[in-house]
Amino acid sequence: MRFARIWQRLLGVERAVVEGVEFDSEAEVLVARVRPRKGASRRCGRCGRRASWYDRGEGRRRWRSLDLGPVKAVLEADAPRVNCREHGPTVIAVPWARHGAGHTRMFDDLVAWLAVHTSRTAVAQLMRVAWRTVGAIVTRVSRDASQVGDRLAGLRRIGIDELSYKKGHRYVTCVVDHDTGRLVWAAPGRDKATVGRFFDLLGPERSAMITHVSADGAEWIADVVDQRCPNAVRAADPFHVVAWATDALDQVRRDVWNTARGGRGGRATEASKALKNARWALWKDPDDLSQAQQARLDWIARTHPRLHRAWALKEGLRWVFQLSRQGLPRLAVTALDRWIGWARRCRIPAFVDLARRIVRHRNAIEVAIEHRLSNALVESVNTKLRLITRMAFGFHDPHALIGLAMLALGGLCPPLPARTRPA
Ligand SMILES: [Zn+2]
Repeated sequence: MRFARIWQRLLGVERAVVEGVEFDSEAEVLVARVRPRKGASRRCGRCGRRASWYDRGEGRRRWRSLDLGPVKAVLEADAPRVNCREHGPTVIAVPWARHGAGHTRMFDDLVAWLAVHTSRTAVAQLMRVAWRTVGAIVTRVSRDASQVGDRLAGLRRIGIDELSYKKGHRYVTCVVDHDTGRLVWAAPGRDKATVGRFFDLLGPERSAMITHVSADGAEWIADVVDQRCPNAVRAADPFHVVAWATDALDQVRRDVWNTARGGRGGRATEASKALKNARWALWKDPDDLSQAQQARLDWIARTHPRLHRAWALKEGLRWVFQLSRQGLPRLAVTALDRWIGWARRCRIPAFVDLARRIVRHRNAIEVAIEHRLSNALVESVNTKLRLITRMAFGFHDPHALIGLAMLALGGLCPPLPARTRPA
């Protein structure tokens, strides 16, 4: 293999010419001078259409490339502008990088893959980039990948959900496909206009094909769904219904804990400390409890019967959806009605309120039960979405959070560079 060919392979620029390679010892970086092949037509960087020469642009430009061993590497090339009929003067398209990017495609793809598969610190340290840069990269990789194919084709049963980030001050609206468990769409905001934009994109014909829409009972979703999906029934999202119960339980736990330390601002006592530690035991699926957590739960049963009753109520509601998941919808509906009766009489205010709320949404919950929308696939997407929100903290831009979510849960994650199939 000729020397220049080896460099092409090493740098991943098979569609370009390597003019020369040197080491910039000041910046401690390997610089490879490249140019598009002779005869490659000049194209607009934004739309890829052929266009006429405009000017030299800002001269030479660098793109961070994959490291070569321990050494950072960059590609350097001219970046002239063409005069696009649609976009006006625009920097030309280069085969090795996305438009407007300071990193090569391979670098972008590796960062995106790592952001999906490893931790925040691992990506930033391994690739020697700031977390904010990771945000910019996942945004453009996901935007690029979403141009290919039609992710909204064949949608029948969807879930519309809101994600809060920035400590609950900002929101993103998400649409999940109940049948594939994939995230299909997400956008910043939580209002009628945002949900409306999804249905605009889906179009009236495909909206008419939607049979079920699950949501958390918010009116801003329900109104738009009623308008746009003439053939859909609305269902409650079991994930949210169980979350309501978990919130009610937490309210009871806080009250009991406050009493144990003698009111707000009181000192921590043995009992209040033990209650604080019991938090996880109360939240977890009883089948997943460790021995120590089981012991804590037994202790609660003996010492704080009211809190234990609240816990049993939360579990009872979860059980309703487990029955539905096991294909026992009739039994699940019976269990739901018994649960409502039980919660109404329980004399724990948080759960009496919850019972009222459940009654208000009873029909939508029944739809979810009968159509088995309490699907494990969607539950896991919901849980993962919330983990991603935590990971995306520090991105400063909702599009980066959306990009990461679409890569991880929308099936848009690119393969590792130079590997067509996941190994
Ligand atoms: Zn253009």
